[in-house]
Amino acid sequence: MDLISVVVPCYNEEESLPIFLEALAGVARGMRERHEVSFEVVLVDDGSTDDTLKVMKRASEQARVDAVDSVPLLDIHWLSFSRNFGKEAGLAAGLEHAQGNYVALMDADMQDPPNLLPEMYEILLTEHYDNVATRRVNREGEPPIRSFFARLFYKLINRISKADIVDGARDFRLMKRPMVDAILSLPEYNRFSKGIFGWVGFKTKWLPFVNVERVAGETKWSFFSLLLYSIDGIVAFSTVPLSIASVAGLLLCLVALAGVIFIVAKTIAFGDPVEGWPSLACLITLLGGIQLLCLGIMGQYLAKTYLETKHRPLYIVKESSDDRDR
Ligand code: UDP
Ligand code: MG
Repeated sequence: MDLISVVVPCYNEEESLPIFLEALAGVARGMRERHEVSFEVVLVDDGSTDDTLKVMKRASEQARVDAVDSVPLLDIHWLSFSRNFGKEAGLAAGLEHAQGNYVALMDADMQDPPNLLPEMYEILLTEHYDNVATRRVNREGEPPIRSFFARLFYKLINRISKADIVDGARDFRLMKRPMVDAILSLPEYNRFSKGIFGWVGFKTKWLPFVNVERVAGETKWSFFSLLLYSIDGIVAFSTVPLSIASVAGLLLCLVALAGVIFIVAKTIAFGDPVEGWPSLACLITLLGGIQLLCLGIMGQYLAKTYLETKHRPLYIVKESSDDRDR
């Protein structure tokens, strides 16, 4: 008997969550008719300020009440963070708590269609893959400028890291246990899941699907938060920016040396009338800018190292259904 764990990080999803759980229950019912499977759901409340936690508790109790022969269709577990720790922390917590030999990661807003699950599971049963991941094939409904930067980011990070991130990849995937354990074995504090999935390796089958709007609520990502997140991703999976800083420094030294030789030769040949201060001012500004940029790049890595060395937990659980079960 296979146990499929579905991990769902939720932040202010009181409206979407019931719709999602309803859809998931429908899919679970269908799959149980065809396969020897049972379902566990790990709901992670990421410090929601609305009634998300209440919805979770109610759904969990209801699933127990509706259970046939004390086997619920969806065995719903929940945990609630002490504050908002971000989706990455939610995913990590969910993966740690998931018991299944298959684990799915899904959003609560129905942008990860539950009806893809049967196909994903069947692929893992019949073909030699370790996980099935999803990739959206359109970016409709997204501002063009955001799509442009998203594409640029994917090109860049694939060139400068081993993370192997596919453009349009979502976090929605179904994994076999060994891959889940591999992901859990990465103890880093700065978690960038898209990179981690690629870095751990394993054979991935990509399922393309058409992007859909979320059913209710709104996205928690602004352009600026996405920009910061992409910098996190690059810093977490590549040290190339540091090399670029050194190489740029070296090149500028060479340029400066050539300039010195040129000016000395010119002064010897034609004398030295004082002129050209505007170009000098521009040069100083340019060099000052490059120096600050390089310092900033180093600062990014230093800051991440600093956070890693503190060994703080990724999240703090305030209460969970484990307390109830104990
Ligand atoms: N989420 C979370 N913590 C956060 C932000 C988001 O757990 O701080 C969850 C959210 O509830 C949803 C999923 O992560 O289930 C994806 O969020 P969202 O739909 O806002 O992202 P998008 O689909 O726009 O990339
Ligand atoms: Mg969404």
